[in-house]
Amino acid sequence: MADSFDVVVIGGGPGGYNAAIRAGQLGLKAACIDKRGSFGGTCLNIGCIPSKALLHASERFEEAQKEFPKLGIKATVELDLAAMMGHKTKVVGELTRGVEFLLKKNKAEAIVGEARIASPGKVVVTHNGTTRELEAKHIIIATGSDVAPLPGVTVDEQQIVSSTGALSLTTVPKRMLVVGGGYIGLELGSVWRRLGADVLVVEFLDRITPGLDGEIGKGFQRILQKQGMKFMLSTKVTGVAKNGDVLRVNVEGANGEKQTIETDIMLVSIGRKPFTDNLGLADAGVTLDPRGRIVTDAHFATNVAGIWAIGDCREGAMLAHKAEDEAVACVENIAGKAGHVNYNAIPAVVYTAPEVASVGKTEEELKAAGIAYKIGKFPFTANARAKTIAATDGFAKVIADAKTDQVLGIHILGANAGEMICEGALAIEFGAASEDIARTSHSHPTLSEAIRQASMAVEGWTMQS
Ligand code: FAD
Repeated sequence: MADSFDVVVIGGGPGGYNAAIRAGQLGLKAACIDKRGSFGGTCLNIGCIPSKALLHASERFEEAQKEFPKLGIKATVELDLAAMMGHKTKVVGELTRGVEFLLKKNKAEAIVGEARIASPGKVVVTHNGTTRELEAKHIIIATGSDVAPLPGVTVDEQQIVSSTGALSLTTVPKRMLVVGGGYIGLELGSVWRRLGADVLVVEFLDRITPGLDGEIGKGFQRILQKQGMKFMLSTKVTGVAKNGDVLRVNVEGANGEKQTIETDIMLVSIGRKPFTDNLGLADAGVTLDPRGRIVTDAHFATNVAGIWAIGDCREGAMLAHKAEDEAVACVENIAGKAGHVNYNAIPAVVYTAPEVASVGKTEEELKAAGIAYKIGKFPFTANARAKTIAATDGFAKVIADAKTDQVLGIHILGANAGEMICEGALAIEFGAASEDIARTSHSHPTLSEAIRQASMAVEGWTMQS
């Protein structure tokens, strides 16, 4: 006989496990199914967490070599790549086990296996040749995303790697060619550059990180170049051939000029695509959009009653916290509450050094929408804390409505930007004016004072530059 649940969640990533936890909290009988064998999804297993562990370790490695002497510290530094990878693996293991603990604590059953929607209200889970049937009043699809393929290129995760392979290289390549100048390519490119690789980023567009505010993006690229990363913009990769240990990568510029570049490792990071394979969506009648994303209404309901979708498999930014926010809102809607996500207040971060973080609208978006705005900026070279920690690269930028002074966007290029942006998210969530930030006391000396000073600059009364 089939087990019955109020909510069955397919996928155990930040969308899925948070949905199951929230359902448990609200007294709903919930199950969370993942075929991976370890919970936490892309984020904990092969995404956010392992990449941040390597970014942290490689940043310390480079800092110890290049920055320590400036601070009066003499050290002999040697790379132990296996131990660095061991740190990453340990962190991933602890956090994925933590998710299982949280599911249990909130009385949601964690089920390992591949789930298929047999019909609305019925999910079949297969694992190691066994089959289990679940009845569900509500099914939440949270199956995430997968690496977008580069036409004509086969990823072998040895020489031609996706982000997954780039998180587990066993030696530092002499040369790495990164296809795609988005945040994943720049983060992983930074890891391997710091550890000794010569990194070249080939980007199809005429700029890196296309979603970022243009001024921030330009400043970011300049800093990465200063660090030694190389860029070929307006250039596409058209093919790759293996010649023993060497890859010969064919590229073509916007002007039609072709050339072949030799490299040791090629990282394909041109984006991610929604993952909904083998779910039975066509049979269940669930509608997908032309990009393969599950179509939902603003409450996360699909066109089939009782089937919902959240996270990377539906539209919107592919970010762990966006999936988490949708999970909470979706389950609250199922429970009869008023779940809602404010997409304008979802921050995005690139965890390089310096970090880049943004929330709200960019200048380009405001121009396109014809909204009049004012800008305040403040450089970290004028920030006392940035001086003391020798991290003066970058600036903070606050954009406010020209008439009402409401904060429309905050963009930060600088150390710790990823932590500081939450102040911006809160400002946007609360509908703050730039003057509210300018008049809010910020502890001294902190990097976040730069956001206050940039807010003061909106009205032209910066105190520290
Ligand atoms: P996922 O985390 O992809 O989880 C989906 C799960 O569903 C998977 O575990 C899969 O095994 C399971 N599944 C699929 N089909 C089935 C099925 N039929 N049956 C059972 N289980 C199934 N985001 C950030 O916000 N910050 C970052 O710093 C960040 N860094 C990243 C770095 C890298 C290298 C990558 C690749 C991604 C990064 N992301 C980051 C993106 C983030 O990982 C995703 O946005 C997030 O994981 C999406 O969550 P999700 O729950 O929608 O899906």
